Amino acid sequence: FTSAIIGALVALSIIALVLSLVGVEDVTLPPTVKYGMVFDAGSSHTSLFVYEWDSDKENDTGVVSQTLSCDVQGQGISSYANNPPEAGNSLRECLDKALEVIPAEQQRDVPAYLGATAGMRLLREQNSSATEQILAEVAETMQEYPVAFKGARVLTGEEEGAYGWITINYLLDSFTKYSPKAHTWLHPEAANIFGALDLGGASTQITFMPEGSALRQNGASEFTLYGYRHNIYTHSYLCYGQDEMLQRLAKELIVESSPSRRVRHPCYPEGYKETVWLSSFRASPCTDGSDPRLPLGDGSATLEGRGDASGCRAALRKLFNFSACGQSQDCAFDGVYQPPLRGKFIAFSAFYYNFKFLNLTEGQPLAVVRQAIEGLCTRSWEDVQNPKRLPKYCANANYILTLLLDAYKFNETSWNNIFFQMKAGGAELGWTLGYMLNLTNMVPAEVPARLKGHRA
Ligand code: AMP
Repeated sequence: FTSAIIGALVALSIIALVLSLVGVEDVTLPPTVKYGMVFDAGSSHTSLFVYEWDSDKENDTGVVSQTLSCDVQGQGISSYANNPPEAGNSLRECLDKALEVIPAEQQRDVPAYLGATAGMRLLREQNSSATEQILAEVAETMQEYPVAFKGARVLTGEEEGAYGWITINYLLDSFTKYSPKAHTWLHPEAANIFGALDLGGASTQITFMPEGSALRQNGASEFTLYGYRHNIYTHSYLCYGQDEMLQRLAKELIVESSPSRRVRHPCYPEGYKETVWLSSFRASPCTDGSDPRLPLGDGSATLEGRGDASGCRAALRKLFNFSACGQSQDCAFDGVYQPPLRGKFIAFSAFYYNFKFLNLTEGQPLAVVRQAIEGLCTRSWEDVQNPKRLPKYCANANYILTLLLDAYKFNETSWNNIFFQMKAGGAELGWTLGYMLNLTNMVPAEVPARLKGHRA
């Protein structure tokens, strides 16, 4: 027995000696790939994003990449108010696809989230029990799958803005970076931190790091990431997403031309006609269907395109309440506080989609952008070939100009600080990645201890 113990000790010392000779200080398991998934339940549609990263780099920045994105068939989950179980079923196809790309033995460890945004915020205002039922149904469906379900909820507009900002700066490595040479985490440079501009169907968000003193309580968020405090300003404007905006515009134009039901629409192309039912304005709190100025009855109105870019912008501007800011400089519109813009911004989601269609995502100066939009608006309907979205591009592009220039107060010079982008690093831009990073503690508050691994 004694000789067996002596033998074991000798064997252990030989192993230790060999390990020290080959230079391994701490024996760790080889890194494995980890996964996470987030449903972005937007107002117009739902997408599923699957992310992956190496387990040994968890606390590093910019290491997560997108494994899969899957578009759920049909409209956003808020459209299932009359049939909540179908909201759950609509997610199945994408959940199946996700399980095809995640190894079976890992699936049970995959954190799975669903976050709903402005479409569900609006539905909650009108019908909170339908909102809860839809959330319960999507949660139930997700729980049927062999993943670690972590919740389905409606995000606040501030969360949506802040997580979009975290996503961008995480993917661009602007928070901090580990310097292997200096064996330390580098201090983030304010100039390298990007602001985030997000345009959805029902809301829009602006988020950036203002000059320290400019930050008041209103709209302020504080994050401590990698040991550094970041004070950011974020605001989400409900009813200022592009679809709600177009509905609001249609309603105003109809009211202005009442009692005529033939309505000239400056933002639609010449020759294009669209019939809208007055009852559709009742579907959203943004258009207040009970407005006494609306023609009575359940009839319809016909919007007739006029292709007039400047008339379009003038009509859009009326949908913002600029006078509510009075003489205040630190105010965007509708009386909402906004500190002076600072630094570079990335404009993603519908900001990007519309500008991509117009070939305006290459950093064109404002004068070129204006000219291109003007040109698009004057093209007649017969002349354009993409029937699904095309009638809306002139309206959307002018809305984007109005929002960025008149409302958010970008000017000829600061325009050049806006980058229209859909992706950064290995992932699409949006709130989903930032949300997952935050909830899984992958953007730690403290400076992370450098994980030990194999010596290179
Ligand atoms: P949400 O569903 O709230 O995330 O909003 C996405 C917005 O982007 C909606 O207004 C969509 O209509 C719009 N959108 C999606 N794809 C495109 C595209 N290719 N061109 C223009 N707008 C788009």
